Amino acid sequence: MNTRTPDAARARARMVERLRAQGIRDEKVLAAMAAIPRHQFVEKGLSYGAYDDNALPIGMQQTISQPYVVARMVEILRDGHELGRTLEIGAGCGYQAAVLSRLASEVYAVERLRALLDRARENLRPLRLPNVRLKCADGTLGLPEAAPFNTIIVAAGGTQVPPALKGQLMTGGRLLIPVGEGEQRLLLVERQGNVFRENWYEAVRFVPLLTGTE
Ligand code: SAH
Repeated sequence: MNTRTPDAARARARMVERLRAQGIRDEKVLAAMAAIPRHQFVEKGLSYGAYDDNALPIGMQQTISQPYVVARMVEILRDGHELGRTLEIGAGCGYQAAVLSRLASEVYAVERLRALLDRARENLRPLRLPNVRLKCADGTLGLPEAAPFNTIIVAAGGTQVPPALKGQLMTGGRLLIPVGEGEQRLLLVERQGNVFRENWYEAVRFVPLLTGTE
């Protein structure tokens, strides 16, 4: 499938209708999901299923998140806020970074696995997104050289919120991360000065947030 083939476009339109039926209301999120060719981010043999609501393998035991979870996380973060300068932790194949690029002023996406980051770079290149920067780094440390951020989105599940991430939020900034041992839930942290307000959302399943780079 090519970005512009009717098949891919149709499959993407169906995915967006399904996201709507699943409760995603933010039209800008739906438009971003409609614009990014998800099939170009999964392995060739799997591209026929790229628009189904499944997580899919992207190599190195990692997965591209299911479309609903990507849309839902971005919707929670937006909710009346501009994403602004955004840090994504766990770039994986680069899909979510591409979606974020349509909604954020700048996207810094970090990935701890060098081989996956190379793949993300290749996947993103044809889309020519001028506001996405990729880096191989341990995201539990944030990205001090680009901080502070309006938005931090973590695409891997932690047992707690890495303290460095809170410190790299601007005041008024928002951080969304799957947290939990066993069951994970989405946790939204909002910073006002030195006060961090927390709100819990639905249960999710992400690969673990690890430390170090490989
Ligand atoms: N958002 C991705 C999917 C993420 S899967 C997409 O759109 O494809 C989670 C990713 O987080 C994996 O690639 C994993 O290697 C990465 N990861 C886990 N811990 C990390 C850390 N501390 N820093 C950076 N990346 C991490």
